[in-house]
Amino acid sequence: EENIAVLPCVEECLRTCRQSAENGNHRLGIAAHRDSPVVRGDRRLLFQIILNLVSNAVKFTPAGGAVEVAVRAEPGKGIFVTVTDTGIGIPADNLERVMRPFEQVENSYARSYGGTGLGLPYSAKLAQMHQGNIRLESIEHQGTAATFWLPPARLIAVDPPLRAVS
Ligand code: ATP
Ligand code: MG
Repeated sequence: EENIAVLPCVEECLRTCRQSAENGNHRLGIAAHRDSPVVRGDRRLLFQIILNLVSNAVKFTPAGGAVEVAVRAEPGKGIFVTVTDTGIGIPADNLERVMRPFEQVENSYARSYGGTGLGLPYSAKLAQMHQGNIRLESIEHQGTAATFWLPPARLIAVDPPLRAVS
């Protein structure tokens, strides 16, 4: 574990997804109001969690849609990385199921999207290894918000001091 600045990690995830987003003509970005927390964690695993959420958002959003990542840090509440999309959404009665291994909204015969159904359960496991979790909120045909939460104990600093400008 090491100290990790969350925003640069999010930016790297967005760079990684940029090509598939451009192919689908998606708008992909970071929310205007953002905190820049430094957290304690495993760099590779935190990157993997955020990348899984962003790649789901791009994959399940039709061409022309938008994917936005919001980073919020509140002492006493923790760190919240929320990936919001304007995609196909998840029916309410499937929200729990898709967190289980190999579960996808569409059954394997009718599937129109690639993947194995492991991204979310794997990410949830990695979040739990950091005493955090993944929460999904969704409205079918409107979009999804997936939030990766880390507890306050993981927050090292909310805003790293700016370098002096001369
Ligand atoms: P993998 O991540 O293993 O490549 P996957 O993306 O299908 O495959 P998960 O990431 O675990 O698997 O997601 C499980 C299912 O949850 C998806 O198949 C999809 O039905 C649904 N889902 C996940 N994220 C979204 C999203 N942002 N919008 C709509 N549906 C989603
Ligand atoms: Mg996935």
